Amino acid sequence: MSELLPAWDDAAAVDRARALFTATFDGEPDGVWAAPGRVNLIGEHTDYNGGLCLPIALPHRTVVALRARTDGLVRLVSAQEDGLRELRLADVGPAGTPDAVEGWPAYVVGVAWALEREGLLDGGGFDVAVDSCVPYGAGLSSSAALECAVAVALDDVAAAGLAADDAGRARLAAACVRAENEVAGAPTGGMDQAAALRCAPGQALLLDCRDGATEQVPFDLAAVGLELLVIDTRAEHQLADGQYAARRTSCEDAARRLGVGTLREVTDLDAALAALDDAEQRRRVRHVVTEIARVEEFVATLRSGELRGDLLRAAAALVDASHTSLRDDYEVSAPELDVAVEAARAAGAHGARMTGGGFGGSAIALVDAGTAPAVAEAVRAAFAERGFTEPAFLLAVPSAPASRLA
Ligand code: ADP
Ligand code: MG
Repeated sequence: MSELLPAWDDAAAVDRARALFTATFDGEPDGVWAAPGRVNLIGEHTDYNGGLCLPIALPHRTVVALRARTDGLVRLVSAQEDGLRELRLADVGPAGTPDAVEGWPAYVVGVAWALEREGLLDGGGFDVAVDSCVPYGAGLSSSAALECAVAVALDDVAAAGLAADDAGRARLAAACVRAENEVAGAPTGGMDQAAALRCAPGQALLLDCRDGATEQVPFDLAAVGLELLVIDTRAEHQLADGQYAARRTSCEDAARRLGVGTLREVTDLDAALAALDDAEQRRRVRHVVTEIARVEEFVATLRSGELRGDLLRAAAALVDASHTSLRDDYEVSAPELDVAVEAARAAGAHGARMTGGGFGGSAIALVDAGTAPAVAEAVRAAFAERGFTEPAFLLAVPSAPASRLA
């Protein structure tokens, strides 16, 4: 049987971050905060098109122990990265400029930089120790987990109170998006940060990326004898590279040609497709428009009753259709993702799809409770047969958003 990657409980998370902090810096942190990774149930590559997506927060979190400073200096250490880094907040500049921040500290100081620019915080600097059980670069949004843990920590030590309600959390999320886009230089949409800051336990977050509006959608799989297996394919996944940007540019260009602000506003798909002359661009548009419709249908299915029988089959079919669309129309799947999805289905999954940006990363499979280890084993065997890197597995239980732990 393949093992499922455990999530840390609060005590373990606090101990790890605090121990790294005290071993690196003199004295104790002001506190310890955490933010979750996420998986998106359905609605992929819709966020930057003003569309809908439906993430849940993972029990797997990134934890930061942080202490405010008054001298504008930032010192950073991460259990996942080598060495102590040190820089001045005043020297931080956007990606692509001579003041750009190299490597992982961009995700941390980018948040302080963005909060300052939004007028939400005065950057006094800080010491921070980071640890995480969210797999890196697995499409589970370790980057947003890091940003959002730092955001709630800075909010708290400055007593700004933004994390106290959803409106404030939306502002923190916006600052984290700026950090990722402008300082780390990854042109991602807003789903990851909204999930890490605005999800709720036992719920999926229906996020309308047109205006940032959210609704909680009950998603209690255990109550209906199901569970959600996440398969981290460990395949190469470079979101900051040209592929993601190319998809985004193609969508923005299509919207311009169609005379709409974003592809969300396309109401007649056939007319839109007829108005575009590039076959590849037509496929991109078809994915986005049908994917947004699938999110609406999936949510309607969840809300119309218990996920059993016909409703379960309907929800699973939407999950499967999402994968097909991402593979064939949006062309962001990878051999590892396709094999993971097919092997999971063959082993009894009701439905399965790639999740996250694609080009590697993770897939999800909706399976009967208790069968996740066996489905995982079938996927592991299929990977071994093809000589792929061994995948990792975890269970996605809808969990809590970013918060203070100690
Ligand atoms: P994903 O968000 O899907 O995991 P990304 O490429 O968007 O993948 O983000 C991964 C990057 O985020 C890492 O390469 C690193 O720079 C940064 N990061 C994430 N978690 C940590 C951590 N625990 N410590 C240091 N850096 C981290
Ligand atoms: Mg990311």
